Amino acid sequence: MEIKEFSRIKKFFRPLTSQRMGAMELLDDAALVPIKKTDSIVVSTDALVEKIHFHSDERADFIARKALRTNLSDLAAMGAKPFAYNLGLILGKRKLGNIDQWLNLFSKGLAADQKKFGIELIGGDTVTSFGPTSICISIFGTPNPEGSLLRSGAKVGDGIFVSGTIGDAALGLILRSNSSLSYSSKGNSYCISRYRIPRPRIDLGLALGEVASAAMDISDGLFQDLNHLCGASDVGASVWANKIPLSKEVNAFVTKNKFSIEQVITGGDDYELIFTAPVNKETSIFNMARVTKTRITRIGTVQSGRGISIFDENGDIIPVVKGGYSHD
Ligand code: ADP
Ligand code: MG
Repeated sequence: MEIKEFSRIKKFFRPLTSQRMGAMELLDDAALVPIKKTDSIVVSTDALVEKIHFHSDERADFIARKALRTNLSDLAAMGAKPFAYNLGLILGKRKLGNIDQWLNLFSKGLAADQKKFGIELIGGDTVTSFGPTSICISIFGTPNPEGSLLRSGAKVGDGIFVSGTIGDAALGLILRSNSSLSYSSKGNSYCISRYRIPRPRIDLGLALGEVASAAMDISDGLFQDLNHLCGASDVGASVWANKIPLSKEVNAFVTKNKFSIEQVITGGDDYELIFTAPVNKETSIFNMARVTKTRITRIGTVQSGRGISIFDENGDIIPVVKGGYSHD
């Protein structure tokens, strides 16, 4: 490694570590993380690549926070409590500004979210490349004491629930790339910020350990991810389309632009939780919603067999293809 890289790590990343987590000031070959009272740790890795997962002109602190939060969302989906992360940084040659300025802002973004989510940096790697900038984070957490939330536990008759609202980030991406669709400056900035900075549902995931039979986070799109969950549980699902929770911003946009709601709902990047639970747990689920200040909506029921059936408000089936509705 070049001298310059060492000094960058010292300047930008060492302040994000502490002795408590065994990072040894990023001076050794690896971190020695103290693990107490747990048989396993929960580990997940996510990579973000410039031009694929973030725009080249995106602010470095937003990129940092999105990279951390997509990982945090995976831990939320397991019901785990995150404590530390590793950062693999592949720095592409930058046209915009210099690398130190970029790293300065990037590390500030990390610092802000470390504080918010109670996690620390424990190590990583920093290299440069002629290709795009890429960020690869591995996150570590302790498992839910009530049992980890797996995708495979859904039972026929369970309710299907989602947190928050669906489609805000997908609409944010559409609006970010096509300003002529803009419909209200407040609505625009709400959706774009939902796209830029997801809200991982850590507290909800921790609470759900007691009640959920299966869970995952929604990153690829509501139906696609529900399909994954159902596949892992060997069940099917019925979903009431009109129960899918939409923000007032998405509703306003769809009404005004006569835009296809399916595109927004199935766009992905929601980072909300989708989970199943026995229906007699509904009262405690809605209590958890109150305690964790998270909107939770029941959108359907786990069925026997395979595949998802989507029903409109009249109880008629809406055909689905490739994760979206099909209209003929
Ligand atoms: P190696 O030569 O074994 O790859 P390095 O010289 O790359 O080790 O790294 C030295 C130390 O700096 C290690 O403790 C490593 O974890 C840390 N480090 C390097 N890059 C980063 C980064 N992006 N974030 C956090 N720690 C880093
Ligand atoms: Mg290295």
